[in-house]
Amino acid sequence: MHLDLATLSLLGALQALLIAPLLLLATRAYTGRARTSLRIWGTVLVLQSLGWLLAALRGQVSDWWSIVLANGVLIVSYAETARALRLLLEVPQRRGWLAAIGLAAWLGIVWFGVVQPDYRTRVCIAAAMLGCYLGMLLWPLRHALRRGGSTAQRVMLLVLAGAAVAWGLRLHELATLPQVGLLRPTPGNIANMVYGTLEPVFATLGFLLMYNEAAQAELRRLARTDPLTGTFNRLALDEEGARMFGTGAGLAVLMLDADHFKAINDRFGHAVGDRVLATLAHGMGTLLRPGDILGRVGGEEFLLLLPRSDLDDARALAEALRAHVATMSLELDGEVQPISVSIGVAVRTPADRDAAALVRRADRALYEAKRAGRNRVVAADEAPA
Ligand code: GH3
Ligand code: MG
Ligand code: MG
Repeated sequence: MHLDLATLSLLGALQALLIAPLLLLATRAYTGRARTSLRIWGTVLVLQSLGWLLAALRGQVSDWWSIVLANGVLIVSYAETARALRLLLEVPQRRGWLAAIGLAAWLGIVWFGVVQPDYRTRVCIAAAMLGCYLGMLLWPLRHALRRGGSTAQRVMLLVLAGAAVAWGLRLHELATLPQVGLLRPTPGNIANMVYGTLEPVFATLGFLLMYNEAAQAELRRLARTDPLTGTFNRLALDEEGARMFGTGAGLAVLMLDADHFKAINDRFGHAVGDRVLATLAHGMGTLLRPGDILGRVGGEEFLLLLPRSDLDDARALAEALRAHVATMSLELDGEVQPISVSIGVAVRTPADRDAAALVRRADRALYEAKRAGRNRVVAADEAPA
């Protein structure tokens, strides 16, 4: 089989050129970070195709085109690839570092390409630059994978590992073969060209999968968040309650309701009432342990899920929350307005069939707290009614 490396390079360029307009057109439907990363990726593909095209013309056009410009364009495309992926991995873009590394490599390649031609040194400089960029991607990717990671991130890891292997082969040949050159059909060069031909498709696939996951995660976060207080909403409370109950471990729940809240709304207006709810949620949030879940069930009612807590823990926290709220001095329209909460506490017993049963008992205890005069904590009977 005869592999014509220039043709392979052209094929790679053509693929990237076909995918790029689709991505750039698609950016119109998006906003924010998503749009930025899609745009960068589309531009990367255009730059890559241009770079590969120029590189394939080695020998047919002047070295200024096939070395200086081709490498410049490819370096920008690699730096931008790293930037788009760092954006999706939610780490700082580090544009300064990316640019400095790229510029240093380009100057080196120009020097050893045109002024004092030396192919081996040129490849070493390009490999060092790609090594830096790969490091800047593999580091945050490793952190993401350690936290569980996703399929998309694993696909991207494979794509990056492919680049490392192809370049490793190329460096090995550089050190061992007497004759080297970009378009010589050596295994290392073939691996690089084949990788370069497939890379636009696979890297874009990995990128789109990662992008999709980031968008899904953001949607899920929004779907589980109460927009007014920033705490969890009812959907998330149901999910988390079921999850915690399912572990079989100890679980306590606190049902909290603001006292005489209607009076605050009537007196100061709904908008002020909204602000008070957000302040309340924030104030209570400062007393929680990691792992505790605070959410707004609706209106001026909150639910707290306390994993691995017994009755004493739960009652102590409820009392601390009640006291904390009672000492919060709310200044509304220049007046100091007292506020308090009533809290019902329930702790999991063998008779509770699910998290909802536990919440129902906390709700009944809350009702008792209201009846007993408000601004107090009442614990549900250990045996469910
Ligand atoms: P209680 O001590 O018995 O709980 O008295 P309350 O006035 O707090 O209770 P009630 O259930 O009678 O009224 C709850 C009020 O909470 C009614 C409504 O005006 C207010 N409320 C419910 N949801 C919201 C909201 O999203 N924003 C604001 N500002 N007020 C709300
Ligand atoms: Mg109330
Ligand atoms: Mg209420």
